[in-house]
Amino acid sequence: MALIPGTVGAAPVQNIGAYGVELQDRFESLDAIDLQTGQVFTLNAAQCAFGYRDSVFKHSSSGNASAGQQAIGLKNRALILRVRLSLPKPWKPVLNYADLERKMLEQHCSQPSPQQIFDWVCDIRRAKLPDPTVIGNVGSFFKNPTVSLEQCADIIARDPKVVHYVLADGSLKLAAGWLIDACGWRGKSVGLAGVYEKQALVLVNRGGRSPVESATGGEVMTLAKAIQTSVYERFGIWLDPEPVVV
Ligand SMILES: Cc1cc2nc3c(=O)[nH]c(=O)nc-3n(C[C@H](O)[C@H](O)[C@H](O)COP(=O)(O)OP(=O)(O)OC[C@H]3O[C@@H](n4cnc5c(N)ncnc54)[C@H](O)[C@@H]3O)c2cc1C
Repeated sequence: MALIPGTVGAAPVQNIGAYGVELQDRFESLDAIDLQTGQVFTLNAAQCAFGYRDSVFKHSSSGNASAGQQAIGLKNRALILRVRLSLPKPWKPVLNYADLERKMLEQHCSQPSPQQIFDWVCDIRRAKLPDPTVIGNVGSFFKNPTVSLEQCADIIARDPKVVHYVLADGSLKLAAGWLIDACGWRGKSVGLAGVYEKQALVLVNRGGRSPVESATGGEVMTLAKAIQTSVYERFGIWLDPEPVVV
């Protein structure tokens, strides 16, 4: 999770993750204050209901009553005060991400140290992602969609090069960046909002920093919608945005 920008308190909200590890994999518990009652309470991982870039902090109590169940949500209700992490001993690196496997081969190193992995992840991220202090962006704009084997078989038959990962439950995660790239979006713009040249999953501000010079929210959302529509028309998959739009 090296180089993911943000605060500790926000990390569980989005269940941040990258390169094969998510916060939930190292999470023990957190303390939060109920903004309505002022009571401090503790939640374990199960109570946080972590999912892919998702948690109990992104849902309202009444928001998800699917399957007839009243879901408990803490959206706008809790301020996270403290996060406890639990690191496994002995340390066991997670190295099964394609970019890291490539680094191990390049460097002829099959047992990297934690510092080496940290440095590799920073290198990979710097090569692919724009520095938000230089080029305005929110990181990955879309979540990688999860599809069933049947859905994916159809897509692979049409586009054999589609980048995908098999998940523990047998479903497949497709690389949203690849889908966007395949639709020809890399480097394109709507007004001052653009698709980053080195990684199609990232939308960037091609304007200046001041509000009058920068891309507008409308331009970003128009671009995002156009990308969603073209990916849907080609692959039958609707990409969900990763950032919360306010
Ligand atoms: C260049 C770039 C790269 C990125 N790469 C990744 C990546 O690889 N993986 C990834 O997962 N994310 C990534 N992100 C997204 C971002 O880093 C995370 O979502 C991070 O958690 C945001 O932290 P923040 O402190 O800025 O939170 P904010 O964006 O300020 O807040 C996020 C949400 O959490 C809530 N919140 C914040 N603090 C608290 C608190 N203490 N208690 C309760 N609610 C709170 C806010 O109200 C808001 O709803 C990237 C973003 C950028 C700009």
